[in-house]
Amino acid sequence: MTGILDGKALAAKMQAELTQDVKTFTPTIGRPPGLAVLMVGDNPASAAYVRGKERACQRVGIASFGRHYPAETTQEELIQVIDSLNENDQVDGILLQLPLPEHLNGVALLNRILPHKDVDGLHPYNMGQLLRDEPAMQSCTPSGVMRLLAEYNIDLLGKHAVVIGRSILVGKPMGIMLLAADMTATIAHILSENIPDLTRTADVLVVAAGCPKLITADMVKPGAVVVDIGITRVTDPAWEKPRLVGDVDFDAVKEVASWITPVPGGVGPMTVTMLLYNTVLSYRQRFSL
Ligand code: NAD
Repeated sequence: MTGILDGKALAAKMQAELTQDVKTFTPTIGRPPGLAVLMVGDNPASAAYVRGKERACQRVGIASFGRHYPAETTQEELIQVIDSLNENDQVDGILLQLPLPEHLNGVALLNRILPHKDVDGLHPYNMGQLLRDEPAMQSCTPSGVMRLLAEYNIDLLGKHAVVIGRSILVGKPMGIMLLAADMTATIAHILSENIPDLTRTADVLVVAAGCPKLITADMVKPGAVVVDIGITRVTDPAWEKPRLVGDVDFDAVKEVASWITPVPGGVGPMTVTMLLYNTVLSYRQRFSL
């Protein structure tokens, strides 16, 4: 019987714990934790993610300092915004929603965020700490996957992990975190040869490519643990509204895998929860709580 790695349930449990932490610490500190989610332009998918993040903040009692800026906002204006949030004592976390409009230099903006407020774990300091196995703000999606694997006591030690996707936001830090958990980690990408041969050797297969149904049942080793990070909004004339689709052919792969994440309800809720977790962590570290 295949088990479902239920990110929605774990996210609800973790958010209840975070709500309790915020309730406990706010009277002592005199303010709740604060998060600023910055969005530039009007990418509809980003707008939906930002709304989701702000609603989640509200649920656990984190104050939101986010703002929505028009697409033509300049690099200099955004630098000023980030600098003022860096200095703002009410703000523990800053997240720059990606992708940004093309005229902006995203890397320079991300590097401007103070490392201890970098709740997305994208600053070179935090990335370097991750490579060194030292404490850091860790990228929300891969750290959410690690939490989910830990919750279900998935045996990682010495096993082979294959990650499909090498983005700085997801694939690369995912591979490093699995390596840090004493796995043998392979990171594959669009130019990798013989991907099905690779995936068939995976005890843990993590897919973050953004290609619906990329992973079919014949690509999965029997008994493997399959984690589907991919989210693509797909429309079909037969459907009333667009659906979110993962990178794994869930119905077929669940017949082969030992554990699998659904889409939606798997990794997505964990990503938002780790953002809240990182914000509360930054707040607690600041006040040595
Ligand atoms: P990206 O486009 O930056 O990177 C995609 C990676 O996949 C690249 O490294 C590319 O080489 C690789 N790739 C693409 N097609 C491939 C193929 N056919 N075979 C092998 N490798 C292939 O995207 P990203 O930001 O890393 O996001 C990846 C997916 O994860 C997207 O669907 C995104 O929406 C989703 N995502 C989900 C969450 C979540 O919370 N569940 C969070 C972030 C991203």
